[in-house]
Amino acid sequence: EAKDAGRNTFRFYRTALTDAANQRLEIENRLRHALVQNELEVFYQPQVHMTSGKITGIEALVRWRDPERGLIAPDVFIPLAEETGLITAIGDFVLREACRQVVEWDRQGLPPLEVSVNLSARQVAAPGLLHQLRQVLHESGLPAQRLTLELTESTLMEQADTTRGTLQQIKGLGIALAIDDFGTGYSSLAYLKEFAIDILKIDQTFVRDLPEDRNDAELAMTIIDMAHNLGLDVLAEGVETQAQRAFLAAQGCDAWQGYLCSRPLPAASLARLVNDHEPEPFARRTPVKAAM
Ligand code: C2E
Ligand code: MG
Ligand code: MG
Ligand code: MG
Repeated sequence: EAKDAGRNTFRFYRTALTDAANQRLEIENRLRHALVQNELEVFYQPQVHMTSGKITGIEALVRWRDPERGLIAPDVFIPLAEETGLITAIGDFVLREACRQVVEWDRQGLPPLEVSVNLSARQVAAPGLLHQLRQVLHESGLPAQRLTLELTESTLMEQADTTRGTLQQIKGLGIALAIDDFGTGYSSLAYLKEFAIDILKIDQTFVRDLPEDRNDAELAMTIIDMAHNLGLDVLAEGVETQAQRAFLAAQGCDAWQGYLCSRPLPAASLARLVNDHEPEPFARRTPVKAAM
């Protein structure tokens, strides 16, 4: 009996593993196909300047429009794309498309927007990145000063020595660098200084429970002050409520992003949003030092 049960368990695991492996392989093949069939699409989420309330930039966020399964979020396929190396082609597509789109909006008379593009560690390590960036800027006509690349702390830490050189060259082109999901990784202050980072994006997990959660409130305040002392701008991610925005404004946070303004949108909807947007200015360091 026990032997049988063991055998069945083994069979079960073997089947489960095979299924998982097959499933990955299937997704990988479909993803390759998606690239060729133009099933990838770039969505855009507004970035709002705190004190003026104006939409000054957007973040490009990739989506996969699968004919059978509908819209697929990046969390589902980006990790796989990173493992398989497909991220290089996907990243190239997003960068090109985002730069092209922003210049197209300029032509349509939209106020000039800055654009942020996410970069995975694998892209930073790839030897062709600098050439690719130069080419995309040249082809789109986007001034480098309007492009920001978002990297995570782990990307910085991974191959610190080669990364340092690459990032210096990127900065040399005039492109800005942002640290994404700040606070979830293990980077040190020394690194932020050393890598000449321009913008710190506070991860949404620290914003979610503001202003009530005292730990998160302390953390947000500390991150903002620390970043400012290092000469960095701070953008808060995942802002969903007026109370969160008010707290962040009071702490001197420079910009924010989140559902309170808008979810990531397809290009046409984003353009309409920017056109219809009525800025809500917010005073820096208002007397509301929160109830702390
Ligand atoms: P991220 O770069 O940190 O992007 C922010 C994520 O938070 C986005 O999820 C966005 O939709 C979501 N978000 C924005 N505001 C709010 C809010 O108020 N509340 C909540 N709960 N969520 C909010 P999304 O678009 O699903 O992207 C997930 C992650 O996938 C991104 O995190 C980024 O790491 C990765 N990603 C997306 N596009 C690309 C890309 O083109 N290249 C690379 N390498 N990674 C990408
Ligand atoms: Mg990002
Ligand atoms: Mg983030
Ligand atoms: Mg993220």
